[in-house]
Amino acid sequence: MDISVVIPLYNEEESLRELFEWIERVMTVNNFSYEVIFVDDGSTDNSWDVIVGLSQSSANVKALRFVKNYGKSPALHCAFKQAKGNVVITMDADLQDSPDEIPELYRMITEEKYDLVSGWKKKRYDPISKTLPTKLFNATARLISGIKLHDFNSGLKAYRNKVVKNIEVYNDMHRYIPYLAKNAGFRKIGEKVVQHQARKYGKSKFAGLSRFFNGYLDLLTLWFLSRFGKKPMHFFGVLGSFMFFVGLIAVIYVGASKMYAMTNGLPYRLVTDSPYFYISLTSMILGTQLFLAGFIGELISRNSSERNDYKIDEEINT
Ligand code: UDP
Ligand code: MG
Repeated sequence: MDISVVIPLYNEEESLRELFEWIERVMTVNNFSYEVIFVDDGSTDNSWDVIVGLSQSSANVKALRFVKNYGKSPALHCAFKQAKGNVVITMDADLQDSPDEIPELYRMITEEKYDLVSGWKKKRYDPISKTLPTKLFNATARLISGIKLHDFNSGLKAYRNKVVKNIEVYNDMHRYIPYLAKNAGFRKIGEKVVQHQARKYGKSKFAGLSRFFNGYLDLLTLWFLSRFGKKPMHFFGVLGSFMFFVGLIAVIYVGASKMYAMTNGLPYRLVTDSPYFYISLTSMILGTQLFLAGFIGELISRNSSERNDYKIDEEINT
């Protein structure tokens, strides 16, 4: 099979039929063999009924339905496990991404041998409340990941099948899939300028401030995991030794200068009389402990089998 189109969706009943028919047209014109995998991320509208309807008229429709709204990353994760096409293309369900981009994305993966091609919404049709923070976000992601992409979080992306089988998307990590791919060893990452439309129906499912905080925390996690996930000692060992060493020198100095003062009959006072001594001691210990706790938690959760365990309600053709 040439292409798997993966579509995560949450309450997008108005767009699904139009989107699917458009994809069908593009595939037929280009003679691609394909499947379209819809993942209904716990929609509360009629999205699932629309998908069932589509599946009755086309054998290319596959679908999963979550029992509840887990999020876009879990939806992608489950679809990636199913995908059979040589090239896997993800696309938002809201008609903001154009299926007309599929042939060129396919060509870049198969002929130019990219592992991953990310859509770049160079001209974006979203409110400024979305585009401005996104700029900041992309700059940070570029800096930390070292991948020169303009647009990390575009829903429209194409992958070599091997890539999606070897990365694990969880939490809100869909924003950093290029980074996940790079960490997994897939280094040929490119981008393609893509058309973008304003949302036709419904409204954005990603609004509010929490997405930024979560986004940055996820980015930090990934950064730590990629640098120290397999060798935490290189981080904690260096930091710990350094702090121990500084403490040792300080103790020797404090002790020695007090001894000196005592033996020479000069005035002196207890080191523990200084409030700064306690403040710095406490904050250093707390800081290290908190950090360590976060990191250990992350390591444990990486090995937990429950992290990517989602309850699927119904399935079509999978
Ligand atoms: N989506 C999803 N689960 C969610 C939120 C969003 O599957 O919990 C889907 C949504 O239906 C759409 C895609 O993810 O197909 C991108 O969402 P949206 O268009 O709201 O994001 P935006 O374009 O505003 O960044
Ligand atoms: Mg959208």
